[in-house]
Amino acid sequence: MAATILDGTKIAQEIRVEVAAEVKSMAAAGVRPGLAVVLVGHNPASEIYVRGKVKACEEVGIHSEKLTPPESSSTEDLLALIEELNGREDVDGILVQLPLPKQVDAKKVLLAVNPAKDVDGFHPMNVGFLSTQRPGLVPCTPAGVMEILRRSGVPVAGREAVVVGRSDIVGKPVAMLLLNANATVTVCHSKTHDLAGVCRRADILVAAIGRAGMITRDFVKPGATVIDVGMNMVTDPAEFQRFFAGNAKREETFRKKGSTLIGDVHPEVAEVAGALTPVPGGVGPLTIAMLMFNTVKAAKMRSGSGVAELSRV
Ligand code: NAP
Repeated sequence: MAATILDGTKIAQEIRVEVAAEVKSMAAAGVRPGLAVVLVGHNPASEIYVRGKVKACEEVGIHSEKLTPPESSSTEDLLALIEELNGREDVDGILVQLPLPKQVDAKKVLLAVNPAKDVDGFHPMNVGFLSTQRPGLVPCTPAGVMEILRRSGVPVAGREAVVVGRSDIVGKPVAMLLLNANATVTVCHSKTHDLAGVCRRADILVAAIGRAGMITRDFVKPGATVIDVGMNMVTDPAEFQRFFAGNAKREETFRKKGSTLIGDVHPEVAEVAGALTPVPGGVGPLTIAMLMFNTVKAAKMRSGSGVAELSRV
């Protein structure tokens, strides 16, 4: 039987509607959450991401500000900018779009962000809050994975969860969130032996690898829930055929654009899994929705109100 498709676009829209309602009620109390996005230089992909974030802010009523220091900026220039944003009352969230230019010490810049305004949730203080289950800001994509599970009614407590990938921005925080939600968690990486065998134990399998279609049907226990975080661009026609031969809709996109997006999970997994997030339209849309959520959460935490109802992820 074909897997149930977990519609990330629909879930993200639900969250945006909730966030917009929250922003409206804050406005009635004279508070407007504000997000500052720092985009250094001219990276075309970053420009697209930032445009999406600013547009999403407008839609939910969050005030947003784009700061565009030049490509030649030094670490010191950016530290001075972060310090200014840290001190501004009207800025609740600071997002530094990565990657930063080569000459910049990105770790130093991210570390300078006030943890209370760190809407990406990457600051070591927020990492610590997550692992000790204290209220803090949780990285957006991992928080989005948990929202997909929760809003799709997938039970987590007591289940075997396997996360493939151990990056600081996806794999590790997803694993910590699953552990906090009482799953029994295994984290895999490039040195894991018998990866397919370990993955087959999973009731919930999260793929955050960055390798097109690597998770094939023999990695998946029949009926498992599979969350595909991967975003990989396929441009080679032979590779395209390997994944999507006979898929008329994809073939049309590929013909028009010369590329298509694929996750880390092979499309054939839909024949084995119980539920599956598609790519595109799965985890991706949740990332921006959770950024909006985090900005409102940061505003509420800074004003000392309503943390309890907003800290469930
Ligand atoms: P990353 O930093 O490159 O980490 C990849 C992880 O996968 C590493 O832990 C690596 O293991 C592991 N890995 C690589 N090859 C492997 C293999 N053959 N077998 C087992 N494990 C392997 O990537 P990331 O930033 O976490 O991103 C992962 C994917 O998610 C990418 O496709 C990225 O584009 C996507 N992503 C999507 C969103 C979204 O909004 N949907 C957001 C962020 C990222 P080692 O640690 O041993 O090297």
